[in-house]
Amino acid sequence: MAESVSIPALLAHYLRHRDTIQLVVAHGASNCANPLYPFQDVTMLSAQSTRNKTQPAESHPTEPSLEHANSYYAATANDSPKRSSLQESIEVDVCVVGGGFSGLSAALHLAEQGRQVTLLEAARIGWGASGRNGGQIVNGLNASLSTIEKRYGNSTAEFVGSLVQEGASVIRYFVNEHAIDCDLKRRNIYVAFNTRQMRELESKQQLWRHYGMDDHEMLDQSALQKHIGSALYCGGMIDHSGGHLHPLNLALGEAKALEKLGGTIYEQTRVTHIDDIDTTPLVFTSAGQVRCKTLIICGNAYLGKSVPALAPRVMPVSTQVMATEPLSQELADALLPSDSCVEDVRYILDYYRLSADRRLLFGGGTVYGGKDPENVEAKLRPNMEKVFPELRGIAVTHAWSGNFALSFTRVPQLGRLGPDSYFAMGYSGHGVTGSHLFGKLLAEAISGNTARFDRFAALPWFPFPGGQRFRAPYSTIGSWWYSLRDAVGV
Ligand SMILES: Cc1cc2nc3c(=O)[nH]c(=O)nc-3n(C[C@H](O)[C@H](O)[C@H](O)COP(=O)(O)OP(=O)(O)OC[C@H]3O[C@@H](n4cnc5c(N)ncnc54)[C@H](O)[C@@H]3O)c2cc1C
Repeated sequence: MAESVSIPALLAHYLRHRDTIQLVVAHGASNCANPLYPFQDVTMLSAQSTRNKTQPAESHPTEPSLEHANSYYAATANDSPKRSSLQESIEVDVCVVGGGFSGLSAALHLAEQGRQVTLLEAARIGWGASGRNGGQIVNGLNASLSTIEKRYGNSTAEFVGSLVQEGASVIRYFVNEHAIDCDLKRRNIYVAFNTRQMRELESKQQLWRHYGMDDHEMLDQSALQKHIGSALYCGGMIDHSGGHLHPLNLALGEAKALEKLGGTIYEQTRVTHIDDIDTTPLVFTSAGQVRCKTLIICGNAYLGKSVPALAPRVMPVSTQVMATEPLSQELADALLPSDSCVEDVRYILDYYRLSADRRLLFGGGTVYGGKDPENVEAKLRPNMEKVFPELRGIAVTHAWSGNFALSFTRVPQLGRLGPDSYFAMGYSGHGVTGSHLFGKLLAEAISGNTARFDRFAALPWFPFPGGQRFRAPYSTIGSWWYSLRDAVGV
């Protein structure tokens, strides 16, 4: 949770660290110059949300509820056993911390290779971002290929370009191989409000093609109408290799597959601290201990301070989703005839899709520091009704929040804390594919093929300026700039 910071304290800190703050703003501006993912998942603390009172986020599994958030996904989850918590001292081969997509992807890849994997989850499988996200399979990182190209050069952009579609392939592979029932659908669409944004999407298509990805198709206004029944947009771009799914059911299915392959899962087992991280790690949990040969840390935005070395790499950011009551077939077909998922290209973006039972799942808005708005529906409903005026007054049955982990560079964070201790986190809001991809890279490295992991881990990282206390307000300052740009349409 972010601490509250008084205006005088913020001003004093600003005067002492003017240069760094300008770097935050300039950093965002360089993303902004990037036409592809301009700060997309890191949208602003909107004027409305700043007015909303905040309540403590479920930012940490030590808070009261260790059960799934009260979401549409939890209400429609497939049957899944509640696993017991660890109450003893054990010795294992591979220990994974975190039962979200990152931990599950790494664990399942390793179990498929015959490794003995034990996974520790502080709450329930899929409790974090993985079980409550928008369910959108969006290819690419938050930092666009053009940003990667500008920052790190063509060869790194080629390397990143060669792997950014692999996360979606991992998902499809798991779903098919392990027969996971999670309403997997194809296609996602990026939508534009004006011709400048359309030109940006065209550049994006060209750049992706340049790096060997040819699944994108531009849609003019009339072509877009075949996919989205909204008059709001002037066009868009469809990615035929994107898609959407029920994320909690994917996580639960991956956990079941892991256990079938001999893996062990402990739920409600919070890792409190780790000793011997640079030799044979000893993991302390709420009521037990795990000595392991290899350790993988995938607690992401909910890791809190249990691994202090990782805390400066990311900031928890809250984002929200709500679900309407089921729509009639006729209305659902009118709103989203091709059943694709949609996200717009603004800095403050909306993302939405249909569920399998024809509800509109509508997401948007972010709050730095991971605090939840008091009334998610009040925040999201006006945006939804702008896109689809037909939904004015429709009942919203579920509304919830969750935290993703934002990195300062908007590039995922992975690396080692010791020779056999690994971590992956910080997908900056583009994590459904990212977590599956980087889970695979973790498994690859642990199996001895370190090339791709090492290349990615070598990318420079920076802590958020302002430390734990000031990073959220600083980022908000940077964000106001983008809100303004959205408002005036530049
Ligand atoms: C509301 C919302 C909407 C989103 N929508 C999208 C989207 O549509 N498309 C997209 O690409 N991305 C989206 N994202 C981002 C995406 O969901 C995440 O990037 C991704 O799920 C991260 O997976 P993860 O496994 O790294 O982290 P998480 O899913 O957060 O899992 C981390 C797990 O680790 C556990 N844990 C933490 N600390 C400890 C500890 N000390 N001991 C034991 N366990 C611990 C937590 O309880 C948690 O279950 C969204 C995120 C949110 C919050």
